[in-house]
Amino acid sequence: MVLSKNTSFSIELPPAYAGDRTVLLAASELKSLCHARFQGTGGSKETKVRLSIDRKLGGYTVSALEDTIHFVGSSPVEVLYSIYDFAEKYLDFCFFEPGRDIVASASPEREIPSGNLLGLIKPLLQRRGLIQEFPFSDESFLIADWMVKNRLNYLMVWMKFYDLATPEMREAFLLRGIEIESGHHNFSSWIPGEKYAAGHPEFFASIGGRRISPSPSKSTLLLSEQLCTTNPELRREIARRMVSYTRDHPELKTISLMPNDGFGWCECDECSKFYDKSAKGDTYSVSKHVYKAGRIYQDLICEVAKDLHKQNPDLTLTFCAYVNYSSPEPGFRIPEKAAVHFAPYWRCVNHAIHDPSCWLNSAYRKDLEAWIAAKDGGEVNVYEYLMGINLYVSLPLVFHESIFDEVREHARIGVDGFLTQFHLTNWTAYGMNYYMMAKALYGADQESELAMLFRKLFGSTAPAAKMFYDKLLAIQKSSGPCLVTYPRALFNRTNVEDYRQVHQMAVDLAEGTSSDFVRRLPLWTGYLLKFKQLFDQYQAGLAVKNDVVHFKNWCRPLQAERVLVHGKLEWLLDAWIQCFDTGAEWMHFNLGWEDEYIRLHDSLLCEPPKN
Ligand SMILES: [Zn+2]
Ligand SMILES: [Zn+2]
Repeated sequence: MVLSKNTSFSIELPPAYAGDRTVLLAASELKSLCHARFQGTGGSKETKVRLSIDRKLGGYTVSALEDTIHFVGSSPVEVLYSIYDFAEKYLDFCFFEPGRDIVASASPEREIPSGNLLGLIKPLLQRRGLIQEFPFSDESFLIADWMVKNRLNYLMVWMKFYDLATPEMREAFLLRGIEIESGHHNFSSWIPGEKYAAGHPEFFASIGGRRISPSPSKSTLLLSEQLCTTNPELRREIARRMVSYTRDHPELKTISLMPNDGFGWCECDECSKFYDKSAKGDTYSVSKHVYKAGRIYQDLICEVAKDLHKQNPDLTLTFCAYVNYSSPEPGFRIPEKAAVHFAPYWRCVNHAIHDPSCWLNSAYRKDLEAWIAAKDGGEVNVYEYLMGINLYVSLPLVFHESIFDEVREHARIGVDGFLTQFHLTNWTAYGMNYYMMAKALYGADQESELAMLFRKLFGSTAPAAKMFYDKLLAIQKSSGPCLVTYPRALFNRTNVEDYRQVHQMAVDLAEGTSSDFVRRLPLWTGYLLKFKQLFDQYQAGLAVKNDVVHFKNWCRPLQAERVLVHGKLEWLLDAWIQCFDTGAEWMHFNLGWEDEYIRLHDSLLCEPPKN
């Protein structure tokens, strides 16, 4: 059969689901995608479409027989997925970027062959998603739309942001089969200082013999302020708050209990019993300066989960594995309706996470395997940084090929889900990673997906585009055997000439292009070059404070071009500017403990530690 602007659709809905809003969305999306593809539809040539649900299928299929296209999914969301997958494979769409669908063909009609169009398609990992570290806004609708088009089904957000989302914003995700976890670092959301500090100072950590006075719970930076987690009354209060919170939000299936970011664990007598005074954290997990907090944190999780599940057995409680609580304590099990988000923070991005030759990643790999061995009905998700850690600020992280290998390996060893931090405003730098992650999570074929994406994004310049990304990757790799994603690790060990070359390649690619994405590439590489030049100038003792101030202002328009998150860059550059006033050497964010690791990395990323 042939689809064109003369096509009109007669869509048959599954009888038991005829009023299902996700099924109705699938039907209307098929019509509007065809309309967008052929610049109009609704002519005299009728094409029959049948949408069906087959609960036992475990995925979706699409086939064309005689005059009917048949979309079958095991749930309404799977039917919706089948429409979008069909649109990419048979209607020349590319859902690369939120709000900016690409139609990669101008042919006025499209022949749809008879037979099986998409064999049974199933995901490799059950939970596939994004971690949103910014408030909901009108852009949330674009994100929900992009996620479902790329078959992602999970959004982890900070509780303080979830609470401020409008019902329409939440509904945009739920309608598209995207579960929202209201959680992330949230000790301060369950027990806000404003509410408890005056009446219950004993709920908060004791440091150096005194109870801390907690910062406002809406602070966004590393709080490094924890609770006195062994206090029995505090534990009961957290569980009580969880029960009443989910009563107010019956749409939630998953909430979390995660420490505030940073360190600052309680040192009271009772809490101190949980630290092994002879064993501090580790270099790989950026925590060798503090005691391990795995035992005290996981003890809290056990008790609160039990308390919560007595009253609300269907709710999933998540927790995290991170810095000084990266591994499970001996004997700790992840029960049903519990999940750990394992975050290989400051992992090496020049080696695969499972590469035994990388000292950093093999330590994380060992922790991950221990978590999988600790599963007892619960889940293990990997929390990744496909945009680098927050203050990597859009520097090169070419990951759109490696992601396939990593996801396959995760699936093989028993990981249940994969989530990444992301931003809409760094899509120019990392969109390739986000898009290919979604493909990899469905077990798609790496070679054909890459070929298809390059063809749709770059057209006839696909070979030059491939060379451009190879060059960026070569810069990243030239930083040394290992690379952790903060600016100094990259700039200190790479050559400015390479940045000049890759910028020229982007300028050449963009010349005469009609693609909005390709037009933005030289804006990104121009930024990389300028940043690197400024860094070198500073290292040579030639930069003055005003140079950094000028650079900060020069970068401002790049946020609107989806090159970088300007607020994050501003934090970083303000820390640098401050160094000119204090005379301190600029390493990163002017956090003493962090700078120590960065100094260590100057040699450790080139040569593994000896022990
Ligand atoms: Zn304590
Ligand atoms: Zn490495």
